[in-house]
Amino acid sequence: MEKVLIIGGGGGGLILANHLPRKDFDVTVIDKDEYHYYQPWFLYVAFQGSRRKIWKPIASLLKPGIRFVKDEISEINLDERKVYGTRKTTYDYDKIIIATGTSPDPDSIPGLREIYNEYGDYHSNVQNSLKLWEHIKNFKGGTVALGQAGPVCKCPPSLLEGAFQLEEYLKKKNLKDKTKIKFFTPFPRAYPAEQMNKVVEPMVEERGIEVMTFFDVDTIDTKNKVISSIEGDSINYDLPIIVPPCKGTKIRIVPEKVKNPDRFIITDKKTMRIEGYDNAFAIGDVNTVPTSKTGVTAHLEAQVVSNLLQGVYDEFTGRINCPFDTAYGKATFVIADYENPVVPYPPTRIKHIMKMSMARIYWMTLKGQADPIFDYYFDFTNPKKLNEKYATEA
Ligand SMILES: Cc1cc2nc3c(=O)[nH]c(=O)nc-3n(C[C@H](O)[C@H](O)[C@H](O)COP(=O)(O)OP(=O)(O)OC[C@H]3O[C@@H](n4cnc5c(N)ncnc54)[C@H](O)[C@@H]3O)c2cc1C
Repeated sequence: MEKVLIIGGGGGGLILANHLPRKDFDVTVIDKDEYHYYQPWFLYVAFQGSRRKIWKPIASLLKPGIRFVKDEISEINLDERKVYGTRKTTYDYDKIIIATGTSPDPDSIPGLREIYNEYGDYHSNVQNSLKLWEHIKNFKGGTVALGQAGPVCKCPPSLLEGAFQLEEYLKKKNLKDKTKIKFFTPFPRAYPAEQMNKVVEPMVEERGIEVMTFFDVDTIDTKNKVISSIEGDSINYDLPIIVPPCKGTKIRIVPEKVKNPDRFIITDKKTMRIEGYDNAFAIGDVNTVPTSKTGVTAHLEAQVVSNLLQGVYDEFTGRINCPFDTAYGKATFVIADYENPVVPYPPTRIKHIMKMSMARIYWMTLKGQADPIFDYYFDFTNPKKLNEKYATEA
């Protein structure tokens, strides 16, 4: 029986573990946390004060026969096939999958740590989202500076989702006339994928959100409340909503060259194999696969690795399918793959209902119980087919 070690019980790690047949694989999932969180809901905690319970014990999300160990991994030696935990435990394996997601890095930009500690954010954890909600709830007007502090970020739609949620909230509270929303981004347009701007830019304009492009955060002067960019622009703020730069894993990996300077693991974009190792894979946000860092990507990559481990040929197509809540009860999806560009897919009410339903079926998804629905849906929303319709229409 093959010994499979999965480091990280997030979306990618759990889906992979639950897809491996227990008769052939001895599977252990290791996570530093006892709980798994439904991260997309951080948005509604921070901007609507939602108190929905969005966490479950990792052990309860694994099929019977899969081992769960709570331990923080500090080192992985790919040459010796050894993994070291912070409790001085050593683990060995035949196959290893690293699925440790990203880590926020508020210390790489002067002033950002202070903002992070005081205002929170809506990407890091529930506590930070609640902290941000307290500030939004008590906001009485002024300038809100909202954006990402680094080019790498999980869930690209979530940045504008934050701006749209905030705008809707301010309108409901009659604070719109007293507020300016300044949305800053390091990219040339409001949305990083060019085609999606056909959909989002008219909405941004209509809602009076000012977009500051080519804005790479350089420093934050918290005393005078000014954010400055490398390009020489600045924003004076009353309320800062800043998503910190995303970095890969802090785990020491031997050999070190398998990590890039931002600590992401260099991974083959079709097989998720770590460069130079046939028995080691990295899935989800922690890898360098050139697609958006989303739960859907982690899910599809996990399915590919599950097939490869079982000796079934498979390749990741680069498919993304990020739900994008455009507020006022509507949503769209950002859909593309390696071969086809992002579809300028218009927002509708039904897509919003689908995004909201995901919070319910998410837990089933982790166990593979919703696979037939997803297979049908992914086929129905094939980016080639959708582009034939929408790319010309838009
Ligand atoms: C606001 C927001 C909205 C989002 N919306 C969507 C959406 O609508 N749709 C979508 O598909 N995606 C969305 N995402 C992105 C999605 O949540 C992530 O892409 C997804 O969770 C990545 O899965 P993962 O398994 O790679 O990492 P994670 O789910 O982050 O899991 C990583 C796990 O590794 C563990 N770990 C880390 N380091 C160690 C260590 N040293 N030792 C042991 N364990 C460790 C962590 O505790 C964690 O449990 C959103 C994210 C945010 C923040």
